[in-house]
Amino acid sequence: MAKTNAIDFLFIGAGVIGLNLARELKKKFPDSNIMVFEKENLLGAHSSGRNSGVIHAGFYYSADSLKAKFTREGNEQLREYCLEKKIPVNMCGKLVVTQNEREEKTLDELIKRGVHNGVSLDMITAEEAKKIEPRVKTLRRAIWSPNTGCVNPISVLKKLLEDAMCEGIQFRFGAKFLRIKSENTNTITVTTTAGDVETRFVVNCAGLYADKVAREFGCSRDYRILPFKGLYLYSDEKPGSLKTNIYPVPDMAYPFLGVHFTLTSDGKIKVGPTAIPAFWREQYSITENFNFEEMVEILWRELGLLVKSDIGFRNLAFKEIQKMSKNKMVNLASALATDVNPSQYTKWGKPGIRAQLYNIKTNKLEMDFKYEGNSRSFHVLNAVSPAFTASMPLAKFLAERINVLLQNSRGAGIVGEQIREAPHRPPNKETSL
Ligand SMILES: Cc1cc2nc3c(=O)[nH]c(=O)nc-3n(C[C@H](O)[C@H](O)[C@H](O)COP(=O)(O)OP(=O)(O)OC[C@H]3O[C@@H](n4cnc5c(N)ncnc54)[C@H](O)[C@@H]3O)c2cc1C
Repeated sequence: MAKTNAIDFLFIGAGVIGLNLARELKKKFPDSNIMVFEKENLLGAHSSGRNSGVIHAGFYYSADSLKAKFTREGNEQLREYCLEKKIPVNMCGKLVVTQNEREEKTLDELIKRGVHNGVSLDMITAEEAKKIEPRVKTLRRAIWSPNTGCVNPISVLKKLLEDAMCEGIQFRFGAKFLRIKSENTNTITVTTTAGDVETRFVVNCAGLYADKVAREFGCSRDYRILPFKGLYLYSDEKPGSLKTNIYPVPDMAYPFLGVHFTLTSDGKIKVGPTAIPAFWREQYSITENFNFEEMVEILWRELGLLVKSDIGFRNLAFKEIQKMSKNKMVNLASALATDVNPSQYTKWGKPGIRAQLYNIKTNKLEMDFKYEGNSRSFHVLNAVSPAFTASMPLAKFLAERINVLLQNSRGAGIVGEQIREAPHRPPNKETSL
């Protein structure tokens, strides 16, 4: 890239996607200057620091998906990275259990997907499952995934940030992207809470705000983020009381895995997360980060879905809202393991909110990672679970998409079937994120 004072790549968002993608672009363009703008003062304030910390093995995802393509590889790379950086990983594995015959069919489908995705899995009997975890409950069979692990996500983010800084990537924490100010032939000036900044290319990794930022650049026209809140209920049993993660068979119609037991990197037990529709994007508690404009927009969309129920939203919402009750959560958990005592499940943990993409044309929740771009900007959309696990190879792939986009930007600017050249529109003076 030719040098002027403009920043070559301006990133929005320092979550796990922003950090990994910035590092990959730096590898591809070693002479470029990259600056990451993060609106929070704290690392991991949103999904990347509030997730279950499960390093998924990669067997849930249909063969043609980006999730299938990058999760197994991401699992290997993240575990290697943790080993190299001395970040503790609890390689406790995972059991997927069934409660009825219908679920056994899904178990077979999961094994099929796992085999296709190159994931090491075993179909085992209930007796074999009990040898792995004596407390487990399953009908006849279960899936054993030895390569599932657990990590503290904040420890990973800290090391990624350290590495990125050593590689020459600059960070501005507490600096929020607000809007496009102006554009000329080669650069674009954006307004942030830390002032106006000129750049050649914007990379949007804004998580819960990715769709909104993308629309500022003429992208994400068909998509809106619907926030789904994940609550966790902690057990006060001593670490090691469960030896492995225990998951139910998921409802394959939704991108959520159902309430399950996960272990922390130091062996504590938590149940969750839920997928409760939130009323605004960062609604971590009843009033936290209240945003009236967002609430009206999201409530309107959620009410529309309740009426139409095109994505089974009514059933989902009804089931999930009940999980705000500790008793309900404990009840669900007790279907997966024995000796689940309600008196030991008293403490809610730090909730996370999924930036789930909803397609307003098809009225469907998007199941796979998405991205869009044009000659000036690139937008990572729907970086939902397991994007933490998949983040390293996914970032490498996205950096290559950006590379191709930059090379083609004088032509059609179309890369792959998911990049759609979005026309530039004049900056919208009214919009503020
Ligand atoms: C409850 C829950 C459980 C999960 N469990 C797992 C799991 O076990 N394993 C797994 O692999 N994945 C899991 N995930 C998914 C995983 O956490 C996400 O896929 C991943 O963290 C997404 O990273 P991100 O960088 O896109 O988003 P984020 O971490 O949300 O980062 C986006 C960043 O952008 C910043 N930002 C937003 N707007 C602006 C702006 N205007 N200007 C500047 N900065 C801005 C935000 O402050 C934020 O820091 C889970 C997610 C949730 C919510």
